[in-house]
Amino acid sequence: MNHIAATTQSAPTQAATEHFDVLIVGAGISGIGGAWHLTHQRPGTRFVVLEAQDSFGGTWWTHRYPGIRSDSDLYTFGYRFKPWTSAPIATAAEIRSYLGEVIDENGLTDHIRYHHKIVAARWSTPDATWTIEAIRSDTGDKIWFTAGFLWMCQGYYRHDEGYTPDWPGMAEFQGRIIHPQSWPEDLDYEAKRVVVIGSGATAATLIPAMAETAGHITMLQRSPTFFRTGRNAIQLADELRDLDVDETWIHEIVRRRIMRDSDIFTRRTFTEPDKTREELLSGVRQHLGPDFDISPHFTPSYRPWRQRIAYVPDGDLFRAIRSGKASVVTDEIERFDEAGIVLKSGARLDADIIVTATGFHLSVLGDIAFFIDDAPLAFGDTVTYRGMMFTGVPNMVWVFGYLRAAWTLRADLVSDFVCRLLGHMQQKQARLVVPQLRPEDEGMALLPWIDPESFNPGYLMRGLHMLPKRGDKPEWQHNQDHWVEKDALPAIDLDDPAFRYG
Ligand SMILES: Cc1cc2nc3c(=O)[nH]c(=O)nc-3n(C[C@H](O)[C@H](O)[C@H](O)COP(=O)(O)OP(=O)(O)OC[C@H]3O[C@@H](n4cnc5c(N)ncnc54)[C@H](O)[C@@H]3O)c2cc1C
Repeated sequence: MNHIAATTQSAPTQAATEHFDVLIVGAGISGIGGAWHLTHQRPGTRFVVLEAQDSFGGTWWTHRYPGIRSDSDLYTFGYRFKPWTSAPIATAAEIRSYLGEVIDENGLTDHIRYHHKIVAARWSTPDATWTIEAIRSDTGDKIWFTAGFLWMCQGYYRHDEGYTPDWPGMAEFQGRIIHPQSWPEDLDYEAKRVVVIGSGATAATLIPAMAETAGHITMLQRSPTFFRTGRNAIQLADELRDLDVDETWIHEIVRRRIMRDSDIFTRRTFTEPDKTREELLSGVRQHLGPDFDISPHFTPSYRPWRQRIAYVPDGDLFRAIRSGKASVVTDEIERFDEAGIVLKSGARLDADIIVTATGFHLSVLGDIAFFIDDAPLAFGDTVTYRGMMFTGVPNMVWVFGYLRAAWTLRADLVSDFVCRLLGHMQQKQARLVVPQLRPEDEGMALLPWIDPESFNPGYLMRGLHMLPKRGDKPEWQHNQDHWVEKDALPAIDLDDPAFRYG
């Protein structure tokens, strides 16, 4: 673990720092997208992207486990401005190469500084400026920047360490315990007995990839997950390509088709939960064959989309199970011992390697210590403005993408909002903008950031108390519906009293 605490020492003098109009935190898909939008929608803006790691890609650089791939199609997980031209489900390497092209084709390299872990951000109202304190991970030096606007593209989880529950007896286990987020380059699993704890997208990716060489691999889950299956191809895209249609058009047409279809399906999971559940289960049944009883392992008790639905391209997870190289156990862990895992049912799973695909540590605002005019920011006490800005926090926007659709669909929309807001501030000659509750919002019920009835992944539930509150009006909610936001965000009235300028 590599936690660098923010110092309490006060910020340096202005002379010791470099100043930028906009400072972007993180060079993942959101930060690189933000940089593209700034250069195209706000040319001339002085900006920098600070990234803690030694290269770009964020999620797609951090995760190196076997088979690592997207779960969304890249027509919608890719940017709206750069066509995706390959199979829709992509490997991390393919996604990085796409992001690398965006950097190279748009001269973004000089704007990105790697090895810069931001540890503190201090807002000063008199100066209308953020002072950013970073630590260089390569030299250990402390370094400061000032910026007029802070664009938080730091994702939602800690990149240096995954979440592993603390089970009794873990220290006794004689084999290796590995979290997929910290995959050892030298891990040899040939002919080994592997247990993967968890059944989300990571497990669904890892298992078919490892099954090829592992002795046997067991997916151990507490409860079943929904999976979608299908070919790793989009017929419409292939047909348009056959007709020599321009890639820019193909990208846009296929995006629209996917967005419409996924919107229809998501709505149906609310209005027709039984029917959509049956459709998902029948996809699994088709792959596992009539003799496989799917009831204990593949029939979740919740309605579809309360947790992310993992996509299994070409049914590869189910093929591994059908071949006998992989199997599923639905049970709970009692404890670990020297040889493996003892289950609550009394059964046991012996293993050489245990992979804990058990999720993330939520990282609220990149684990950066925030201060507003010297007072520590209690983020959990703020109210979110449409999941992008926060009451009492000036000149700052946070990118948090969709949970039920591709993240980048929202990152592009938030980028448009930031660029429009910066233009509006320039027109008004305002140095600061801060969201505030309006008179009509007085006494508004404040609720947890996300409704656990609607979506409840473990990392969000564990960290809900650290996240801003939402209200009961659209302005003060983090709407997760792309179909609504694609029209609502561009239509935001920047002169609404929810924004105070100064
Ligand atoms: C294995 C995996 C697969 C996924 N697949 C999909 C998918 O198919 N579709 C989908 O929609 N979503 C998916 N997600 C969610 C995914 O994280 C997002 O979609 C997307 O990649 C997030 O991009 P981002 O740039 O916002 O954040 P990240 O990818 O998390 O990148 C944030 C960057 O900010 C940097 N950073 C953080 N804090 C600091 C700091 N204090 N100082 C400096 N730099 C900092 C990090 O080092 C990192 O490089 C997946 C997540 C995981 C873990």
